[in-house]
Amino acid sequence: MKSPYISRRSLMIGAGALSMTPMLASGALAEAPQLGTQIPGWYRFKIGEIEATIISDGLLNLGSANDQFPAAPQDQIAEIMKAEFLPVEPMMLEQNCIVLNRGGRLVLIDSGMGKDEMFGNGAGRLLRNLAAASITPEQIDDIVLTHAHPDHCWGLVGADGSPLFPNAMLHLSQVDFDFWTDESKLSAEGFLPAFVAGARRNLLPYRERMNFVSDGKEALPGITAIATPGHTLGHMSYIISSGDEAFLNVGDVCHHYALLFENPGWEFAFDTDPGLAAKTRLRLFDMAATEALPMIGYHFPFPGLGNIRRAGSAYEYVPIALSHG
Ligand SMILES: [Zn+2]
Repeated sequence: MKSPYISRRSLMIGAGALSMTPMLASGALAEAPQLGTQIPGWYRFKIGEIEATIISDGLLNLGSANDQFPAAPQDQIAEIMKAEFLPVEPMMLEQNCIVLNRGGRLVLIDSGMGKDEMFGNGAGRLLRNLAAASITPEQIDDIVLTHAHPDHCWGLVGADGSPLFPNAMLHLSQVDFDFWTDESKLSAEGFLPAFVAGARRNLLPYRERMNFVSDGKEALPGITAIATPGHTLGHMSYIISSGDEAFLNVGDVCHHYALLFENPGWEFAFDTDPGLAAKTRLRLFDMAATEALPMIGYHFPFPGLGNIRRAGSAYEYVPIALSHG
């Protein structure tokens, strides 16, 4: 196949191009077609003996930050976003799924948005990025969900409704399964019917190979569930540990690294119980800061790995430097 990087100069040599101007002869004007949008695909690191790979499902477009944090002062949102060099609109959130390889079992945490474009066309890249990281869907033994919202479970089935991960057991909280597959909510107001219909479509095909996780118990060896209710009532965070290393997978306890560490009490539009979600966020932040637990944030900037430190009565997020080891 012809390389897109072959320079115009090298193609022209046979046509007498050696007499071209010195600037062209330097090769600095090599023809290199722009390759289009680039979203990071995957990032691999170790947690003790576990090989962990963050797999991006791409970006979600959440519209205006003012709509997503409706009770927060708009001037404060504008000030923070400006200080972070981010627009108030669109507020983009990344999706950091994760694959854990414990040597013998491959575990995927959260499945991304699938092909639905409810939040724009930048999502649904999990399968492509799994392939880029040399992982096939057939290799996934277990899928652990933080909760049953679209961007976490709508990537479980294909367009024909059949499981995309044919060998995987599904692990999630029973509270979330019962809530988001409840048929009676299909006639509710607001976003609930669409969310419930999508959860039913994605979760029910796995009904015969489903395990419910409980607070304080291991969902799988080295993956301990912590009930973190509020964003959804059955939301679970997970401590992933091996040897003396551990990471806290916060899931959707915190959606935005710039806004919510500084204002952990702010309520998010898609929270089922916003007041409880804020209390849970404060509890989890306090735990992570006290125990110096590094975090994996599903919606933090790729690859979503960071530490938390106290800053007055609030917190600060500090991204972890990437490793090349
Ligand atoms: Zn989410």
